[in-house]
Amino acid sequence: MSFELTGEIFSILMNIAGLMLCLFRYFEHARKAYVYAIAFLIGNLLSNYYWGVYMLVMHDYPNVSSMFAYFGWNLAYVVLVFMELCIRKEHGIRLFSPIALIPVPVNIAQLILYLQFGGIFNNIWQVFWTTAAACLALDTIIYYLRDRDEKKIFPYTSVVIFAYITIEYTAWTSSCFDWPSEFRDPYNYLSILDSLCFILIPLALTKLYGRDSNASGNYPNEHLMSLFKPLYSSIVAVCCFGGYFLAIWMRNTLGNGTGGTGDGDPYKIIAVMLFVVSVTLISFTMIIVLVVGSMQKTYEGEELKKAKFSAEKSNAIKSEFLANMSHEIRTPINAVLGMNEMILRESLEARDNPPESSDLIKKKFSELCFYSGNIDSAGKNLLSIINDILDLSRIEAGKLEIVNASYQLSSVLNDVSNMIIFKAKDKGLEFEVEVDENLPETLCGDEVRVRQVITNLLNNAVKYTEKGKVVLAVSEERSRSETDPDLTSLVISVKDTGIGIKEEDKARLFKKFERFDTERNSSIEGTGLGLSITASLVKMMGGTISVESQYGLGSVFTAVIPQEIVSDKPLGDFRKRFEQSLNSMKTKKEPFRANDALILVVDDTQINLLVVKGLLKNIGIKIDTARSGTEAIRLATLNHYDIIFIDQRMPGMDGTTTMNHIKTDAGGVNADTPFICITADAISGARERYIAEGFDDYLSKPIESARLEKTLETYLPKDKIDYAGD
Ligand code: ADP
Repeated sequence: MSFELTGEIFSILMNIAGLMLCLFRYFEHARKAYVYAIAFLIGNLLSNYYWGVYMLVMHDYPNVSSMFAYFGWNLAYVVLVFMELCIRKEHGIRLFSPIALIPVPVNIAQLILYLQFGGIFNNIWQVFWTTAAACLALDTIIYYLRDRDEKKIFPYTSVVIFAYITIEYTAWTSSCFDWPSEFRDPYNYLSILDSLCFILIPLALTKLYGRDSNASGNYPNEHLMSLFKPLYSSIVAVCCFGGYFLAIWMRNTLGNGTGGTGDGDPYKIIAVMLFVVSVTLISFTMIIVLVVGSMQKTYEGEELKKAKFSAEKSNAIKSEFLANMSHEIRTPINAVLGMNEMILRESLEARDNPPESSDLIKKKFSELCFYSGNIDSAGKNLLSIINDILDLSRIEAGKLEIVNASYQLSSVLNDVSNMIIFKAKDKGLEFEVEVDENLPETLCGDEVRVRQVITNLLNNAVKYTEKGKVVLAVSEERSRSETDPDLTSLVISVKDTGIGIKEEDKARLFKKFERFDTERNSSIEGTGLGLSITASLVKMMGGTISVESQYGLGSVFTAVIPQEIVSDKPLGDFRKRFEQSLNSMKTKKEPFRANDALILVVDDTQINLLVVKGLLKNIGIKIDTARSGTEAIRLATLNHYDIIFIDQRMPGMDGTTTMNHIKTDAGGVNADTPFICITADAISGARERYIAEGFDDYLSKPIESARLEKTLETYLPKDKIDYAGD
């Protein structure tokens, strides 16, 4: 086989490979530039296949009109210009640099040289379109090279187009001269190089568009897309091999089987047959391109509709959320400001006109207590709304993490029972707790979130029950799997004899902002977020939540949450322990005094310092305060403190850094002092984290007076604490 023929066959193979690659990429990523690339490659294939196969079968050039022979190439060059224009649009290029006109004189000079061969129309047509494509591609490259910045994408496709045309021209020019042998003829080498561009075009376009962005794998009819690939490959194989074998068969039956100059009828028939085969291939390709394109358009239209719908929906939800929150937040703020106004007004009145009798003084103080009691409950309500909003936004942003750490189940149950029993009693409800004695005492899970789930369910039970009782029952689902024997499921159920939930409302119960029976519940405060957050938390912990309810009779909410068992030691009789702790609270001893103790409180917010001072007023402890880490370090070099409380988040130096400086730099005066971190970070494992950082303990904000006193009692030197009864 001659070198030239080998080059032709190589060119056909590269052409087919490039075409298939382009088409497959188009299936994944239906961009216009791929359609141009497909049209360019198919135009080339039309002439390449026809010439190459004819030469392979007949060992000669086909003797047909030049219009007929060059048809494919002529089409391809036009497409090349449109393809480059499309690429320029992608790169956002509008202006044209005159330097990019360099190919014009060069190509005209070559045209003059080449005009002696081939038809005048073909040559002028080809030079016009290829020069236009070369100038545009060169301009795209110049645009990239000039004022380069990181946002500009390298114009791979334009480089390939420019290289293709330059090589093509050099090859044509070289073919105007005589060469001693075909192995010395640069044309053959250049045309191999040129063929490589066929495969480089889809690769360059992939670089521009990326592989799996946009529609990849998202087509509405993915199966149909995956069917297209083998279908198209089969069509290409059938056409290419079919045409070749058909030509051989025709040569053997119609001609004398030896090949020839192609003057006779059989040779013309073979030439026409090859042309028809090429056109069939083109038609199939274009049909597939059209089908995929229209599918993509419909798909994009639907996607656009969906995106519009979801944008409208999320807008409506946002407005509803803002309206809801504005109302929910304003209600407690209104109570806080209103009640505070009453306290101010009546205190000033009492200051200017002091009540005369002790009964009147008592009455005045009980009124003031009533107002501040209302402020307390409104403030707590506000805090719980804000916590709910924060939790909801964290859940929706996927930022809420479940942090597992080991914890004592009895301590969680004790805290939630302690909290709810007083609320229940205030409403005249009974509260019962039934805890399985065999439950493991130490578990590993997100203690804060387990506590939150139980608290939410208990709060609702009390909120939506007028008379009767609320029961908290905790047991274990003994489905410890063989693969993980340390895994168990806590079954937490909260039963009430309240208003119940209608059957038709149950489906929407765990959705956010859903509240039912609003007329009946108009006096009950709520945002409709609690159950939605509870359900999300349970789900995030790998559990399930369900409800059984009879309207008017009561409800049972059951959450099943998987937890790891840390120690198999059973929890024992929780109810007995809880009753004992309640009794010990009733006989609570008088608060202690610590007149000789000195503590340092560090916080950048003045009001927080005032709160701590106020809360500790009745303990008689001496308190130094500092508004920054630097001030704290200065004070710590001068005095020895019995405890140092430090706010974690402060501008400049944070809590941990301040503590480290005091421990190491402040002359060692406070090297052994207990450090307590004050933080708003109340996630599971926070204590362990702060202890690992060097703190002895932590207090979460807002500071509760009971916890603050407990911390003092734990960390103050025992000889500085005076119990009133001592
Ligand atoms: P909120 O209590 O703030 O309104 P939730 O998400 O906690 O929000 O509850 C949503 C709704 O479900 C409530 O408004 C109430 O109508 C209903 N609901 C929740 N718990 C109970 C219960 N134990 N008994 C009756 N209805 C309940």
